[in-house]
Amino acid sequence: MYNKCGEKMDILESGKAILKTIEAASFEAFLVGGAVRDFVLGLDVQDVDITTSATPDDITRLFPKAIPTGKAFGTMTLIKDGHTFEITTYRQDGTYINHRKPESIKFSKDVEEDLKRRDFTINALLMNASGKVIDLLGGFNDLDAGLIRTIGDPAERFNEDALRLLRAFRFHAKLGFHIEEHTLNAIQKNGSLIQKVSIERIQSEAEKMLSYPVLKPTIQLMLDTKFANALFNIQPGLEALLNYPELTKVERLYVLSNHVDFTQAPWRLSKKTLKKLTHFKELYKALDTPHPRIFLQYDRELIYDVAHFLEKTEQPRKIKTIEAIENALVIKQSKDLDVSGKELDTQFHFSDKSMIKKTLNVLIDAVLEGRVDNHKPSLLNYAAKSLERSAE
Ligand code: ATP
Ligand code: MG
Repeated sequence: MYNKCGEKMDILESGKAILKTIEAASFEAFLVGGAVRDFVLGLDVQDVDITTSATPDDITRLFPKAIPTGKAFGTMTLIKDGHTFEITTYRQDGTYINHRKPESIKFSKDVEEDLKRRDFTINALLMNASGKVIDLLGGFNDLDAGLIRTIGDPAERFNEDALRLLRAFRFHAKLGFHIEEHTLNAIQKNGSLIQKVSIERIQSEAEKMLSYPVLKPTIQLMLDTKFANALFNIQPGLEALLNYPELTKVERLYVLSNHVDFTQAPWRLSKKTLKKLTHFKELYKALDTPHPRIFLQYDRELIYDVAHFLEKTEQPRKIKTIEAIENALVIKQSKDLDVSGKELDTQFHFSDKSMIKKTLNVLIDAVLEGRVDNHKPSLLNYAAKSLERSAE
């Protein structure tokens, strides 16, 4: 939904409207977690979590369109005004098994119980329907002091769910905060527990972390606390990252992948990410002496990503070179060629059908290099000569 000025309705305002609907039905509800933290810090708020005394069934009654995305854990997802909200019933987690998930969960009627299961004090602030920020566990002081501190005993909390170890570093990088002393000591003592956590959860936190602008102080801390050493075989990759200026996510992944084999266990990167990495590597070599053909073979955005990386690291003016090549492109995709594979086959009656593709590629290169016009008769003529030459 858009307001009168045509702007998308502010995510926090939409969230507060949801709180009002829930409260009107005599339940409690608050915005919670990252959204409140980032609002207090004046940062952009991306997604909003809502915590409530209402059960998923109550939420379904109030918002028939809510989707039961994690009903067993009390989570319903609601899309409102173009924003996504996760509405979760107050919860108390049972005993944790294998350092990664609670054996059972229990719905609760007490918001403080819900806050106590959360990881860090700065992630346990509440905001009510009138926009007031409520602090029951000391999160406000820690936000002020720039400290990441677990709620309760750090060793216990990291033992319950070892992903919190990596999350502490993630917030260190995202917010530029320090990790509070006892929390840091517990990380030093319990770092190796991270290996008990599923690789998918680790990767999802790590990928978020790789996208933060400033990462060096966090990587240094991961090395100093020996956490890097516990994170499977990533350490040499992290050490390498220290030698670079600040990089983007894809650039960092590329640097890491020169030291860590992400195609092997325990890593389980998505096919899409692995493909992007392979293309990055190929382009890294190709851009040494770039040929216009790359624009027909690779994603344009990735070409510029690699050019930016080269420009930052070793080859100044790479972007200008690439821009000049792009501006001079006679054809932007294979199908812009004024002759098709079928037309070539009709003309030359290839007995070996793989010659169709080969001839098309010869023509594409010739057009891109300005050796022939992109005009059917010229192309057919050029192809005939080229086939004659290769038959000699
Ligand atoms: P970001 O905006 O960077 O994603 P966030 O604080 O919203 O930060 P999420 O991973 O989206 O982080 O988690 C939402 C909230 O859920 C957290 O603020 C925290 O209160 C709670 N939380 C998430 N993961 C854990 C965990 N492993 N243990 C305890 N509480 C957690
Ligand atoms: Mg979040």
